[in-house]
Amino acid sequence: MSVVDLLGRPLRDLRLSVTDNCNFRCSYCLPAELFPADYPFLNASQLLSFPEILRVVEAARPLGLKKVKITGGEPLLRGLLPNLVKSLKTQFPDLEVGLITNGLHLQPLLSRFRSSGLDSVTVSIDAVDPDVFSALSGNGHRVETILSAIEATREVFGAVKLNTVLLRGENDDQVEPLARYFRRPGFNLRFIEFMDVGTLNAWSPDRLVSGAEVLARLQSLAESENLGDLIPLPKSHPGETSERWSWSQGNGELGFINSITRPFCGDCSRVRLGADGRLYTCLFASLGYDLRSPLRAGESTSELTGRLARLWSGRNDQYSQLRGVGFQTKGNSSRIEMFAVGG
Ligand code: SAM
Ligand code: SF4
Ligand code: SF4
Repeated sequence: MSVVDLLGRPLRDLRLSVTDNCNFRCSYCLPAELFPADYPFLNASQLLSFPEILRVVEAARPLGLKKVKITGGEPLLRGLLPNLVKSLKTQFPDLEVGLITNGLHLQPLLSRFRSSGLDSVTVSIDAVDPDVFSALSGNGHRVETILSAIEATREVFGAVKLNTVLLRGENDDQVEPLARYFRRPGFNLRFIEFMDVGTLNAWSPDRLVSGAEVLARLQSLAESENLGDLIPLPKSHPGETSERWSWSQGNGELGFINSITRPFCGDCSRVRLGADGRLYTCLFASLGYDLRSPLRAGESTSELTGRLARLWSGRNDQYSQLRGVGFQTKGNSSRIEMFAVGG
């Protein structure tokens, strides 16, 4: 009984936020001046428990759910996360489960994640230069810790994806250093365009570095430093958000998630579950649908499935596609923030 929305899009992917809290203060997500150390993030009783999360996944499976990506906030701030992965993989062996993290607490947990059955790891890294990284993390973190965790992930999992957000004038000089550093087998460096998610990250077109610009810079880097050709790759699966390229001689992949300049709403099969149990059918939604109350009121899994099916079949979100000419953002000014809905 799979389900499609009003635009014929299936429900395939779940972004699962396990906490809204974070130990970084990236300016494009949780600007330090607005989110001090004592900011009241969700408390334990407000968070969905692991059994509640498993119930939501169980309810979504009959509708076509194939993939879960665990996110946040910073997901590794949620204790015992490998246990959640293990339960997901035990209960739903063919469900693909990935993790996206800033990498700060990753290294000591890698072998537990591996044995829990985790399928893939994405680490966000916006610079290799120590000073640029430290400033961007908003909390003075050391890039060496993250680079070491990335190398270890590549060893334990055989491959690792990297996510980079560029901000003009802050880290756009990191394109070439990042590309040189990760131009190796097993690394997939993806540039995500800075998005106007939420209302607090001071998004403006002047701060955007387009994927097309980054690709052109990498093509000239390849030429000037004799790094071989950049080869376009086909989509690896339907709903793939990344435009994929590879370095020649198997030296890793590059990806461009051009959500602003080349929106991909037409293929969007993602639903997002906030850490408090609110479900969002779009990254740019302002309203979430409360699943925690029915879960805690004892609603059965089949009733939850029906609730999810009704929500998805009424969905017509295509925010990025409708975003106005000249990058004028449209719609409600109370859009949910990225740290609350997960990336
Ligand atoms: N804390 C984890 C991390 O940073 O990997 C997981 C959550 S974070 C919200 C998920 C992804 O969203 C990260 O790769 C981050 O760079 C990206 N992100 C956050 N705010 C963004 C924005 N305004 N535009 C584009 N990407 C953004
Ligand atoms: Fe934290 Fe990730 Fe947001 Fe940076 S992007 S502030 S690491 S949740
Ligand atoms: Fe999906 Fe909304 Fe992003 Fe479009 S704007 S790709 S519908 S999350």
